[in-house]
Amino acid sequence: MKKKISIILPVYNEERAIASIYKAIIVVISGMPEYLYEVIFVNDGSVDNSWNEIKKLSQKDKYVKGISFGRNFGHQIALKAGYDSSSGDAVISMDSDLQHPPQLILKMIKKWEKGFEVVYVEQIKRRDGVFKRVPSLLYYRLLNYVSQITIPKNVGDFRLLDRKVVLFIKSIKTKSLYLRGLVPWSGFSSTSICAEYSDRVSGKSSYTYWKMFKLAFDGITALSLFPLKLAAIVGAFVVFTGIILLLIILIDFIFYNSWYPLFKWLATVTYIFVGVLFILLWILGEYVGKIYEETKNYPQYVVVEKTNLE
Ligand code: UDP
Ligand code: MG
Repeated sequence: MKKKISIILPVYNEERAIASIYKAIIVVISGMPEYLYEVIFVNDGSVDNSWNEIKKLSQKDKYVKGISFGRNFGHQIALKAGYDSSSGDAVISMDSDLQHPPQLILKMIKKWEKGFEVVYVEQIKRRDGVFKRVPSLLYYRLLNYVSQITIPKNVGDFRLLDRKVVLFIKSIKTKSLYLRGLVPWSGFSSTSICAEYSDRVSGKSSYTYWKMFKLAFDGITALSLFPLKLAAIVGAFVVFTGIILLLIILIDFIFYNSWYPLFKWLATVTYIFVGVLFILLWILGEYVGKIYEETKNYPQYVVVEKTNLE
């Protein structure tokens, strides 16, 4: 039986790009008749004509499918909706602004056919300005440092996932979704191909600094409880310096007969207790973190392969 490739494209105000991305994808797909295909557009609450464009395409080509949200739920959730309604043996996600060159689809499929369950496309020459590049570099450093997994750098949401990985993604119900972390978290075998991304065909990036910040924050909080542990560091510092301070005035008082007014003693002790409060806050945070981990409802583990088992 022919294998099926699903291509999912989140769309947010891309009316001028939809027809071109579809054409570019069809050119590639017509070169690989050994596969079935479906192209799923997810309209993430666009306020322009995007949804009509999608519907027009779907009337001409029954393999073009569309989902439309009534408001903007965000890129990651749009991708999730695409994964949820995909039925391919491999699912490729890409931007609908033509930044992710469709010509790479074939290369990705070849890697997948070799047995890789995840194929990333690593961007070799980043076109974004320094204000996007530098924070991104620092961010991934931090993310890799505070989380237990390695997140490939310069990899956006242009990737191929095997059905097995898609089934795992489908099982995840968290609202602050961070697919770039979830995919490596699952532990499926992965590889990447290097390529240059293109410029946007039209319009401008809808990733405002605010949206990027939100994504970054979702990434950190999805993958690590590190922010909760900051209180421990502050607490330890304050208690440590407070005790040294107390020791200094104690020695001064006992051995050198210095006199300190009551408020100075109080200030020192209060300072130490502020540190203690921070430590208690950290302990509280650890419990909150545990509750958070449980409510995320991730599976405890992900099985990649089995032998002699159904
Ligand atoms: N997108 C979306 N919802 C959003 C923002 C973006 O579905 O809230 C889509 C957008 O149409 C595009 C992809 O996600 O297909 C990537 O967005 P964009 O090109 O704005 O980001 P950049 O490439 O600049 O990181
Ligand atoms: Mg883009």
